[in-house]
Amino acid sequence: MIRNRSTCAITNESGKPEMNDKPSLLLHVCCAPCSPYVVETLRKDYSVTLYFYNPNIHPEEEYLKRLEELRRWAENIGAPLIEGKYEAPKWFEAVKGLEKEPERGARCEVCFELRLSEAARTAKSLGIGVYGTVLTVSPHKDAVAINRIGEKVSDESGVKFFVADWKKKEGFKKTTALGKNLGFYRQNYCGCVFSRRDQAPDEL
Ligand code: SF4
Repeated sequence: MIRNRSTCAITNESGKPEMNDKPSLLLHVCCAPCSPYVVETLRKDYSVTLYFYNPNIHPEEEYLKRLEELRRWAENIGAPLIEGKYEAPKWFEAVKGLEKEPERGARCEVCFELRLSEAARTAKSLGIGVYGTVLTVSPHKDAVAINRIGEKVSDESGVKFFVADWKKKEGFKKTTALGKNLGFYRQNYCGCVFSRRDQAPDEL
């Protein structure tokens, strides 16, 4: 077994994520507090590899804070974690002209697609046939839009998308309670500088 330091994934000799008898799933994760309920549920049926690709998060200090919390937790639960690149300029370029959009608007759709495309690309490169995201656990997120984009990316990449609205069946309440017990840091804005402007203006 090789512990790949650059990606933090547990890999086998061929460099692919280690398999057990469950099918593999790459789970895009936006932050630790949104994740416990989703990961706990998926792990019943899948061998889950966490994937952190969130170039939307601003500033970098906040990005590192969220990533560090996820690293700590992934290690505690023995979940492989792949860290994507922090491609903030790419994100800003993608959402150009959409700066004034509110959360749940057109900017968010571009943001979802960028992150989910990278998740599907990574899953494919690792030979993982299914990918998903924790994003729909948030009551602020439009699950219909996320699932639509996830399936579009799936059609383009050939990697199956795990369709879900994780906030259903009190998913948000459950994941929040689990995160609270684990003492997670929970941010007070979605992630990008524009959500910070709208949701946490005192921090600017
Ligand atoms: S509000 Fe959240 S989902 Fe929307 S663009 Fe900003 S970071 Fe992305």
